[in-house]
This record gives sequence, C-alpha cells and structure tokens, in this order.
Amino acid sequence: MYLGDYIVIEKQTSQYTFDCCCVSTGTEFSAEVDSDKQNLFDDHTFSDQNPTACRFLRPLGEGRIGCTIHTDSPAQCKYYRCKIMDIFSTDGNQAGYITGTLALHSSDSLLRDTYNGIVTDVSGPGEDSEEYIKNQLIKAGYQVR
Ligand code: SF4
Repeated sequence: MYLGDYIVIEKQTSQYTFDCCCVSTGTEFSAEVDSDKQNLFDDHTFSDQNPTACRFLRPLGEGRIGCTIHTDSPAQCKYYRCKIMDIFSTDGNQAGYITGTLALHSSDSLLRDTYNGIVTDVSGPGEDSEEYIKNQLIKAGYQVR
C-alpha cells in the first residue's frame, strides 16, 4: 500500500507491458500484467484512490488486495511474505506468528525469550532458517503451522 514511490513504471511498452524500476535498489525490470489479472488491472479506480500504493496493486475481492504482475514482480517483492508460520501454545491458543523477514510478532514473553534464543543461530531469511526455527519451536513445545 506504500510502495508507489519505490516500484515505479518508467515506460508503458504495450497495453500490458511496462519498463519499471525498483527505486530502492536501482534495479530495472520489465513486467507484463499476468494474463489472468488483466481485467483487474484495467480498472484504475483503486490506484487513483490510493496514490501511495504500487501501481500494480489491485483489489481481488473479499477485502483482499494483490499483485497483478506476480510472475514478473521484482525479487524484493517475491522475497517478501507477510507471514511464514503461526505458532500455537500447548492449549491451542495462538501465541504469535513470524513474518518472511523472520520477525516474531507476539505478546507472549516466554515465546519471545524462546525465539530470541533460537534466532541467534540462523544467518538470515531462507528455507533452511525457516525449517530450523520451526523444528526448534516444536522441540520447545509449540505447535507450528
Ligand atoms: S508485489 Fe506487486 S503490487 Fe506489491 S509492490 Fe511488488 S510489484 Fe507492486
């Protein structure tokens, strides 16, 4: 919703293709609107009403929004995931969740302490780190989905 200044369309090269730039890294990329999202993309109402949003973002229905260049989106976007795992305590209540940047979101101090002990052993985001964190949390008695 706030990447309009960072994912910039430099030139429209055909009805659904664009030369773009990821401003934060200076990375140029070409993007074609996904064939199954061209109808969504054609409606510019959302973009016009949300000038801070990336120009490729569109409402998908039922309150969801999504990327219309999912296939060609830049690496920074592909890497980003809102949530990679939900964590539940033994009573089945949700204790927290972890985002794609490996940030823990939890008000449970025991989980936070446990997580801080685990995360010092990983080098950064990635599948190996996620698997390690998940296994360590399960060992510590949490359920992870
Ligand atoms: S994922 Fe798509 S809509 Fe979101 S910022 Fe990246 S290019 Fe734009």
